[in-house]
Amino acid sequence: MNKKVVVIGGGPAGMESATYLSDIGFEVSLIEKDVQTGGKLNSWDRLFPNMRLGKEVKDFLQNGNTLSKVNIFTETEVESFERSGTQMKLCISDGKILDADAVVIATGFDVFDARKKEEYGYGIYDNVITSKDLEQWFCEGRNIVRHDGKPVKRVGIVHCVGSRDEKAGNVYCSKVCCVTGVKQAIEIKKVLPEAEVFCFYMDLRMFGMHFEEMYKEAQEKHGVQFIRGRLSEASENADNSVVVKVEDTLTGRPLKMSVDLLILLVGFEPSAGTRKMGQMFGVTFNDNGFLHSADEHTGTGTTSVPGVFMAGSCSAPRTITNSILDARSTALRVAGYLKNSNVENR
Ligand SMILES: Cc1cc2nc3c(=O)[nH]c(=O)nc-3n(C[C@H](O)[C@H](O)[C@H](O)COP(=O)(O)OP(=O)(O)OC[C@H]3O[C@@H](n4cnc5c(N)ncnc54)[C@H](O)[C@@H]3O)c2cc1C
Ligand code: SF4
Repeated sequence: MNKKVVVIGGGPAGMESATYLSDIGFEVSLIEKDVQTGGKLNSWDRLFPNMRLGKEVKDFLQNGNTLSKVNIFTETEVESFERSGTQMKLCISDGKILDADAVVIATGFDVFDARKKEEYGYGIYDNVITSKDLEQWFCEGRNIVRHDGKPVKRVGIVHCVGSRDEKAGNVYCSKVCCVTGVKQAIEIKKVLPEAEVFCFYMDLRMFGMHFEEMYKEAQEKHGVQFIRGRLSEASENADNSVVVKVEDTLTGRPLKMSVDLLILLVGFEPSAGTRKMGQMFGVTFNDNGFLHSADEHTGTGTTSVPGVFMAGSCSAPRTITNSILDARSTALRVAGYLKNSNVENR
């Protein structure tokens, strides 16, 4: 009888692991709580590093699912599970029971709730938005204007919002927000070439291929200005522009300026679904609240529970490329486990 795998979460990582597992020959069900698969690809307009449309990547991944005959359940969640030896039974939203020989958790991340950094004014001041909100504006083709419809002449982009911040409870770096900020700064300058754009950063982590070139392009071609310093607080002027107070750590001088639009680069946190599924299946979490891999160096994809695997950003902040690579590697691990090969023990 064909072995059965249930993949939970239909973002880039879930879609890709489902396709690979189905291609290997397993009977695969993909459970997505949202109305459609795609995860954050449904919310991001153009992607770093090459400004490709998120929709194009989603279409590619979706095509893989269709060609591989994955059984897709949308608007569905796993309500409970039972285990008998290596066999698992998952009860899903409509009361149906799915048998599983292995489970892949790919429930992803949520962005940090910027309201928790009250001093930055998100949810209080009209002209403070997040990088997620800006992607929504781009997806909807909205003009970049102030809340009152007046033109935007000066923009501030704040790095590390909810990351590398003990007070916010997250000491880790979210990895992708620096390059997202650079990408968004370039996109703003392309539509508003006259606007001044300032990025306030602690240090820039442009680790990926072509990220450094984007940083160079932002400065040299578009005149984006990078100021090394952490925002201490934002307040509002009578005309609803936003006053930012930053300590410029290169010059040692405090800096105060008004901007028409303040964009907060919100970091990664484990999603509510990641926390819920992790608890339901009894897997361990790491210090940062993401799913813990069996071994930091060699155990990626494997959780503390036999037969339960993980893929993508439920275990750490990742780019889309890295989430897809992780998903492929997890599929190989699952195959090793189900075929009882040596790969699983490596
Ligand atoms: C503002 C911003 C911009 C970004 N831009 C880029 C970019 O340009 N290029 C790039 O490479 N990366 C970018 N990223 C990173 C990218 O979003 C991630 O790499 C990618 O989304 C991770 O994919 P994933 O499948 O692990 O998680 P997700 O995309 O979060 O997908 C998880 C899926 O699981 C589902 N789910 C959650 N809980 C449950 C549950 N209990 N049951 C069923 N389903 C569930 C969710 O609905 C979702 O569909 C950006 C990140 C941010 C914050
Ligand atoms: S990637 Fe950049 S903005 Fe994001 S947490 Fe790391 S240093 Fe801060």
